[in-house]
Amino acid sequence: MSVLHQQKVSKKRVSHKKELKWGVLGLFLTAMGISFLIFKDRQQPAEIAASLSTPVMQASIEMPPPEVPWTEHTIAKGESLAVIFSNLGLSPAHLHQVTQEITHPQELAKLLPGKKLKVRINQEQLLELMYEKNESEYLHITQVDHTFQSSLVQYEYTPVIKTAHVVIEDSLFLSGRRAGLSQGLIMELAEIFAWDIDFTLDIRSNDKIDVLFIEKHKDGIKFKDGPILAAEFHNQGRVIQAYRHEVPGQGAQYYDKNGKSMRKSFLRSPIDFARVSSNFNLRRKHPVLNKIRAHRGVDYAANRGTPIKATSHGTIEFKGQKGGYGNTIIIRHGSNYTTLYAHLSKFAKGIYKNARVKQGQVIGYVGSTGLATGPHLHYEFRIGGKHKNPLKVKFPEAYTLSQEELTTFQQASAQMDQKLRL
Ligand SMILES: [Zn+2]
Repeated sequence: MSVLHQQKVSKKRVSHKKELKWGVLGLFLTAMGISFLIFKDRQQPAEIAASLSTPVMQASIEMPPPEVPWTEHTIAKGESLAVIFSNLGLSPAHLHQVTQEITHPQELAKLLPGKKLKVRINQEQLLELMYEKNESEYLHITQVDHTFQSSLVQYEYTPVIKTAHVVIEDSLFLSGRRAGLSQGLIMELAEIFAWDIDFTLDIRSNDKIDVLFIEKHKDGIKFKDGPILAAEFHNQGRVIQAYRHEVPGQGAQYYDKNGKSMRKSFLRSPIDFARVSSNFNLRRKHPVLNKIRAHRGVDYAANRGTPIKATSHGTIEFKGQKGGYGNTIIIRHGSNYTTLYAHLSKFAKGIYKNARVKQGQVIGYVGSTGLATGPHLHYEFRIGGKHKNPLKVKFPEAYTLSQEELTTFQQASAQMDQKLRL
């Protein structure tokens, strides 16, 4: 599997005592998955370090450099292999030869930014190349007798199913860490429940979370967190479950007990039967101010008193008067989205800061408070704080399971429930 392994094997005929010793050490390290870890997982050096025993770490430090060392490069946005080769002193002719001879040239046609590429070069000739294609595969190019060969190599993981039981004492983060969850898994957990739980407002001490997840092991060492399979959140008396389920062609998503997507979608419009009277336009002449002013939302002309609906599940972040916006509501949805509703004549009952609202729930009524020429709703949509055109933005996908998929899902989720309660 590993490159280091091959180097050591290729040197085995050298009957020098010292070489042999290093060779054995190299094989030992390879068996421990060290060389692989060095290549694969740079993101969590602390975790890798923690998962390795001290003698092994010392051995890896003492290891001599290979004859032709590896050069590692992280691919920048828009960077091509031609640019990388040129920076490494390899000629365009050489690049041409490599891509002509290998069986997987398409893998190098578009390099993914952030991924790692490693090469061994000798006298302006490529000896070996490894490109981390994705989490499960890498492209391996080798040179034998001046011709190049390529293969796609699978990373070998052993999935280990684990559970964690979190009792909230302080923050989700600290309590989760105490229960043995990695930072990545805690982030994943927060993301799964983001549409149902506001982690800054809703978390109480003694809330409980049971988590079923996968750890990916290599030669007995954990080096990667797998996905969360299921989680059950006991939040102030509410119980919310989430199960990972993969539908062929749709990818994996999290669903609640009834097979409804945890990730909620948005209604395209907050008003029924309304006409768009002013579109999203960053250089619009403001009808009241008579000046060029970005219009970062959509206006819907409607009669005074027309009900306005929350376009998705969420929490009221703001309710009140807001300058030119007049009576305004801002709703936070999940971890990344907010919607704003302005010029309201009045607010609906039960709408107050931090109240939870459902998709389609009436939150207020059309009016002309603030800077408005007539009754209309001004509606804004933000992703990560940035204004987007609500008529054009791609909403998060909330896939609904078919009856057949639902049956499969219910069997799978019942099994996950059992494991979760062990
Ligand atoms: Zn407007």
